[in-house]
Amino acid sequence: MSETTPTSTGSIDGVNGNLIRVTFPDAVMQNEVGYAVIRNLKLKAEIVRIRGRQCWLQVFEDTAGLKVGDAVEFSGELLSVELGPGLLKSVYDGLQNPLPQLAEQCGYFLERGQYIDGLDRTKQWDFTPSVKVGDLVEAGESVGTVPEGLFTHRIMVPFGWLGKFTIKKISEPITCVIDTVIAEVEDSAGEKRDIKLYQSWPVKKAIKAYEERLRPVENMTTQVRILDTFFPVAKGGTYCIPGPFGAGKTVLQQITSRRADVDIVIVAACGERAGEVVETLREFPKLEDPRTGKSLMERTLIICNTSSMPVASREASVYTGVTIAEYYRQMGLNVLMLADSTSRWAQALRELSGRLEEIPGEEAFPAYLETVIANFYERAGLVRLKDGTIGSVTIGGTVSPAGGNFEEPVTQSTLKVVGAFHGLSRERSDQRRYPSIDPLESWSKYPSLVDDEKLDQTRRGLREGRDVEQMMKVVGEEGTAMPDFIKYLKSEFLDEVYLQQDAFHDVDGASSAERQKHVFGIIHQILTTPLTFKTRDNARQEFLRWQQIAKDWNRIPMDKPEFTPMETKLLDAVAKFRTVGEEN
Ligand code: ADP
Ligand code: MG
Repeated sequence: MSETTPTSTGSIDGVNGNLIRVTFPDAVMQNEVGYAVIRNLKLKAEIVRIRGRQCWLQVFEDTAGLKVGDAVEFSGELLSVELGPGLLKSVYDGLQNPLPQLAEQCGYFLERGQYIDGLDRTKQWDFTPSVKVGDLVEAGESVGTVPEGLFTHRIMVPFGWLGKFTIKKISEPITCVIDTVIAEVEDSAGEKRDIKLYQSWPVKKAIKAYEERLRPVENMTTQVRILDTFFPVAKGGTYCIPGPFGAGKTVLQQITSRRADVDIVIVAACGERAGEVVETLREFPKLEDPRTGKSLMERTLIICNTSSMPVASREASVYTGVTIAEYYRQMGLNVLMLADSTSRWAQALRELSGRLEEIPGEEAFPAYLETVIANFYERAGLVRLKDGTIGSVTIGGTVSPAGGNFEEPVTQSTLKVVGAFHGLSRERSDQRRYPSIDPLESWSKYPSLVDDEKLDQTRRGLREGRDVEQMMKVVGEEGTAMPDFIKYLKSEFLDEVYLQQDAFHDVDGASSAERQKHVFGIIHQILTTPLTFKTRDNARQEFLRWQQIAKDWNRIPMDKPEFTPMETKLLDAVAKFRTVGEEN
């Protein structure tokens, strides 16, 4: 990796797991990177607290062998990521070490004290300038572009530079490496600076080199019906998926990463199990991107940490992920950042807080947990860039509360800040009703792609049907009045043919916005049709038959000639039982 000369050196006073206490001679900064020196190894660490001449660092590695008196070299730099062409398709750990071909060799991780540059120093890129000598530029504005796979990667004035800069030199179109100086600029005081194809940015600080933040309103469709129709997410918005172990959080995120209409997906996998992360790594490159027909990896970046890796790098991984997401947003792209699971991240915070002997909050999580979570989700957003283009970062995080209890601090803190809540239910996953999103508990503050009034009506119907179902458990079917029984059957129909969806079926698994609007309209029409049946058995049989027709319909592509006849078949079947005369 690129060597940095230490700005100062301190000495270890105490080692407590991954936390070390160090006396330092000169000035240090909160979140500054230091390296604990152990023989010929340097273990990366981050300053998490400063008191007088002592500071505490969390070490991102196993600290075995570190002892009092060992040296710590301070870097003078905050914990940062490299931002430039070559990020996409990467698989990183939480500290942006590339974990290439890792998927092949399950369980292989970097050895202690080994760090690799986040961006390849030898790879060649074709740079094309977009400014000329004499132009004035400021932080976040482009000086040129580089093609990166499917995208035009903007080479931007480093985000942390203040004021206006005059272009003094700008490269001709060239093929170069990321370390090449492609522009020289001068600030108002006459000081010169170089611009390369990449820059570094501290992960815990949001990139704000844009004009303004906008209100997220446009749907980020996922092609999952229950989400887009009932609990939508807007581009630039936030949502969370809490659910007990095994309820389907990871599968749901995988579906979303494939189908969501965004340009780039960043997956921060703070895995529950090591195998799960490796699975993700194996699966992704094989998956075809439904939008481009190429490998999904072309527009994906994976940051992975398993529960077997040190907790501190788990904590860093969500920040590394969101920083890269913000970087691509600066290019006018729509980015989706998925964090699975944020509970693992919160546990890392809890562990650190415990070692620091801070006054604990609820369930021993730090008292500032809520602030940390809020600050993280705050980094999502829809923005207008300085050149007028729009970009977005949408954040979706899973939460895996112990025992599926949503009352715990991580779920509660997250619910306070997100715009949509997709609660997974154990009951539904046990019944294999996938995706197992609870249709009565979940909510969203973003606009749906269907008519609000029809949606409310449908929700009411669902709730009423569920109430009848509960009541029937007590009084039995015989004791249930026919109109109530029909309410129940209607809610089951909605559940079976619309809320549930076969993720593994090409057609049913991906329901476009256009299709959802159309199908929802038909389903709503059926649900609001007054019906009459001779007997309960008769009603149940009919509903089962309609269910089957609707399910077949769900499996026919909308542009196939069979689509409309199947719809007609369904409507005709229902029409035979329409109440004539008096409404029921
Ligand atoms: P979690 O991340 O909540 O622990 P997973 O996403 O790993 O749970 O899901 C556990 C299992 O449940 C999966 O391996 C799969 O068998 C099943 N499952 C989850 N979601 C779906 C789905 N949408 N369709 C079919 N099976 C699913
Ligand atoms: Mg999972």
